[in-house]
Amino acid sequence: MSTLQVQRSCGDENELGTLTVQQALQNMLNSVSEKTTNEKTQLSSAIDRILTEPITSPINVPSHRNSAVDGYAINQADLAENSEIKTLNIIGQVVAGHPYTGQIQRGETIQIMTGAQMPSATDTVIMQEHVEVSGDTIRIDARHTAGQNVRQAGEDIECGQTVLQAGIKLTPPQIGLCASLGVSEISVKTPLTVAIFSTGDEVLSLGETPREGCIYDSNRYSLISALKKLGCDVLDMGIIGDDPEKLRHAFELAAKSADVIFTSGGVSVGEADYTKQVLSEIGNINFWKVAMKPGRPVAFGSINNATFFGLPGNPVAVMVTFYQFALPCLQKMMGLTSPLLAPNIKAQCTSRIRKLTGRTEFQRGILSLTDSGKWEVCTTGKQGSGILRSMSDANAFIILEHDRASVTEGEWVTVQPFSSLF
Ligand code: AMP
Ligand code: MG
Repeated sequence: MSTLQVQRSCGDENELGTLTVQQALQNMLNSVSEKTTNEKTQLSSAIDRILTEPITSPINVPSHRNSAVDGYAINQADLAENSEIKTLNIIGQVVAGHPYTGQIQRGETIQIMTGAQMPSATDTVIMQEHVEVSGDTIRIDARHTAGQNVRQAGEDIECGQTVLQAGIKLTPPQIGLCASLGVSEISVKTPLTVAIFSTGDEVLSLGETPREGCIYDSNRYSLISALKKLGCDVLDMGIIGDDPEKLRHAFELAAKSADVIFTSGGVSVGEADYTKQVLSEIGNINFWKVAMKPGRPVAFGSINNATFFGLPGNPVAVMVTFYQFALPCLQKMMGLTSPLLAPNIKAQCTSRIRKLTGRTEFQRGILSLTDSGKWEVCTTGKQGSGILRSMSDANAFIILEHDRASVTEGEWVTVQPFSSLF
């Protein structure tokens, strides 16, 4: 590669046609739309699936009045007043799942267990720790209030109430909530089908004998893992060498088989990168220089009906462009309306970071909470876009905004924790 090309690929804020990160993302979001349909699934297989219809409760929760504690069910008319002590006769016991069918008169009480249905004519429960038991009687004092320790029917959820909105990605408590309503089958979005391949003659599959000047393919593995985590059906097309015919065939096959195509490598200015040439012929693709580091060259567009993301080759640039650009687009294509990412936070930076204005940088950082409750972040060290260790050691991106210059120790920076990304 010539010196000129090396300089160009390092970023030049004044270069014509360079987009900001926000512009590139907006362009991409504007051109994608939902690509899924609906299907039914059993609730037990619904984790991480996207709900297509709101869930309304077919029942009251709780379905019956029940006791919130172990104790004694009484009628509030039998509560003691002022400094009075009252004695009530225990006439039976009621446990969860076995309603009490007998009658209860004034001056009488039923021993009741947590979750058991309140016997008719009772409306208040005295905790067992608050009574004095003597044979078949209890003594209660005046510190209790009418209706205490009773969960009313429909108190948590009323029959007909909407409990989950369409477009959310189901979490374990939401699955539990559906189960608590007796909902066993739900309608969810079909997964996106994503085809992916790596490009480059120097890239080796795992298991291949190492060759001089070659590297193992890491991008396909990091991307496939990320896509699977998002619930995509992945079509792994392996590695395609720098050969225009093989590339053309791979793109055509991918476009036939998938909703979305991901490639890595081949979108910069390297002489043996035929990706650009082939794509210009078969697709409607933009080749963007984005004012960002890492990840400057990004290709995006469509090949027939498939959306195409041509991510850079460098392993960190791949991850950064995937999370900053592809993830929000995939979210839209999947029909996910609830936010996938937690909000960014501000943390005090303990590293000094050199930066030029005119591009957004995504440094890899280690975020921690100090004993005094303040968020602090430092970089993971060397930040080269080929150093994947800078990502694997990190737990957050430090996002240095477009107009920001170098960061001195102690400055506050924007941090995007990985926990909301991975
Ligand atoms: P390219 O954009 O194809 O010129 O690739 C940029 C850099 O990323 C080169 O150093 C490539 O060797 C490297 N690279 C490309 N594809 C991969 C891959 N799948 N896994 C790891 N590194 C890669
Ligand atoms: Mg290449």
